Amino acid sequence: MINKTYVGLGSNLGDSKQILREAVEQLRKLGKVSVSKLYQSPPMGPQDQPNYHNAVVELHTHLAPLDLLDELQRIENESGRVRLRRWGERTLDLDLLLYAEKNIINERLTVPHVGILERDFVVIPLLDLDAELQVNGQLLQNLELVSHSTLTVLADQAWAD
Ligand code: ATP
Ligand code: MG
Ligand code: MG
Repeated sequence: MINKTYVGLGSNLGDSKQILREAVEQLRKLGKVSVSKLYQSPPMGPQDQPNYHNAVVELHTHLAPLDLLDELQRIENESGRVRLRRWGERTLDLDLLLYAEKNIINERLTVPHVGILERDFVVIPLLDLDAELQVNGQLLQNLELVSHSTLTVLADQAWAD
C-alpha cells in the first residue's frame, strides 16, 4: 500500500541549500516526491545560531512508519549530521510530520510530529503542498501563525529540481 507522508527538512550548518537538495535526492529513492518552496526562518530554541533553511517534502511511500524513520535517520547520518545541543545547530534534520491519517505514539516516533501546529516553518511549506490540509481536524490555513509568519521565501518550488 502506498501512503502519503510529509517530511520536514531543516539545516543551519554547512551549505544548507545544497544539503537540503541532496536530502531531496535521497527521498526520491523512497517514493514519489513533491517539494515546497525553500524558506529561511529564525532559529527556535538557542538564538545564538544561524538562521535555518526549511522545506517540506510530500512523499508517497510503501515504507511502514518505523521503516521510514530508519531511512530518515540514515539520510541524516549520511549527511554527516552534527547536532551540538537541544534544538541547536545541525547540518540536517528530517522529521516525519504526517503519515497518512495515522496517529502514532511509541518510543521512537510521535506522529503527527509534536511541533506541527506551532511551527510556522512547517505549516507554511505544508500549505504550499496542500492548501486544504488538515491535522486532527484543524485546517492549517486557519492557524493564526499563518498570518504573522517569520519566514522569508528563498526560492520557489523548482529549487530542488
Ligand atoms: P524536534 O523533534 O522538536 O523537532 P529535533 O528534530 O531536533 O527536535 P532530533 O534530535 O532530530 O530532534 O530527534 C530526536 C528523536 O525524536 C529521534 O531519536 C526520534 O526517534 C524522535 N522522534 C519522535 N517522533 C519523531 C518524528 N515524528 N520524526 C522524527 N523523529 C521523531
Ligand atoms: Mg526537528
Ligand atoms: Mg528531528
